[in-house]
Amino acid sequence: MDHNELEQRRKAATPRGVSVMYDFYASKAENATLWDEQGREFIDFTAGIAVLNTGHRHPQVVAAVQKQLAAFTHTAYQVVPYASYITLAERINALAPVQGAAKTTFFTTGAEAVENAVKIARAATGRPGIITFSGAFHGRTLLTMALTGKVLPYKKGFGPFPGSVFHARYPNAQQGISVEESLESIEYLFRSDISPQDVAAIVFEPIQGEGGFNIAPEAFVNGLRALCDRHGILLVADEVQSGFARTGKMFAMEYYPQAKADLITMAKSLGGGLPISGVTGRAEIMDAPEPGGLGGTYAGNPLAVAASLAVLDIIEQEQLCCRAQTLGAELVEVLQQSRIHCPAIADIRMRGSMVAVEFDDPATQKPDAKFTRLVQRKALDAGLMLLSCGIHGNVIRFLYPLTIPNAQFKQALEILAQALKS
Ligand code: PMP
Repeated sequence: MDHNELEQRRKAATPRGVSVMYDFYASKAENATLWDEQGREFIDFTAGIAVLNTGHRHPQVVAAVQKQLAAFTHTAYQVVPYASYITLAERINALAPVQGAAKTTFFTTGAEAVENAVKIARAATGRPGIITFSGAFHGRTLLTMALTGKVLPYKKGFGPFPGSVFHARYPNAQQGISVEESLESIEYLFRSDISPQDVAAIVFEPIQGEGGFNIAPEAFVNGLRALCDRHGILLVADEVQSGFARTGKMFAMEYYPQAKADLITMAKSLGGGLPISGVTGRAEIMDAPEPGGLGGTYAGNPLAVAASLAVLDIIEQEQLCCRAQTLGAELVEVLQQSRIHCPAIADIRMRGSMVAVEFDDPATQKPDAKFTRLVQRKALDAGLMLLSCGIHGNVIRFLYPLTIPNAQFKQALEILAQALKS
């Protein structure tokens, strides 16, 4: 198919609101490699926005889905249940770092998981208020847009938003926001906007994804837990982007052993490329909504559940948590070495393979989105797909499959090192 013709058809048939990053079209993908319609080959460090920790079309995922495809594809779990849904819930209950007995329910998208975590928190506490953070991203539905802490491009023109949602400041050393200031900004909300007795939940990302791979300091998360305990507020960890071995642990919340979340939202890499999300939480909280209050036609679709069970096997069998640590360390070493000839590197952040590099203009010390785009362009020209993030668009995040072969990873790091030579 002619590329220009396809571009024209795309612009004529689909709205500009669904903007696309690349000007080529996918035709095939396998593990960390993606081919376009013209047969060009790319190393995929975007992984469909953090969905493919186990790579494109992992053979075990493909086999599990094919097996399920031959049995049944849909019943609606709430109409006719199936055992695989229960098995997946049991396995996640055993893995998720929540206090005491856990229960899990499934949905389809990350935003849906976050919406339902809010529903469950409200039902459990009988309170309306939700506190989230600057720079947060929780989804594109009306409620999750309200929770999201970035106006452009997510919120502009889409209001009014659901009420009782308040934003505190997420700690950020680069932007000069200390843990104390962040916790104080919540106290400020309690004085100026909402009584803590009216707050159902504090929803936060243990590592902000779209916001720039900002890692929550331990003192901050412990501070949130203490604050929640003091006021009877539930702590909700949004692990949609950070879950399933990306950080070197199954869940990023395992880095905060003293501050267990009451509810955890998950999606993306759970399904290994099939759409599924979930909410896991303390059993008594999860049971707060009345029967029929949770669910959805496609929620916990059998094909996606089969894929998820395979993903959990793969993470264990291929020791992907360990591999995330090794690959992340190799990448960070290349980034550190690049500092010598790339003065724009302002910060390097790493938790396992959740790695990011932030660029500032060396002359002004201001965020440099233009340079970030230049690095992306140079890498792409050499066959490496990179994804940006950050509230100023000046961060490159690395989301390669953790199953990437060593030689291909090395090749990608060489391309990256070249692209950083300004
Ligand atoms: N929460 C977080 C932390 C995310 O990173 C995202 C997606 N980038 C979402 C929620 C929304 O997920 P989805 O796009 O599947 O609705």
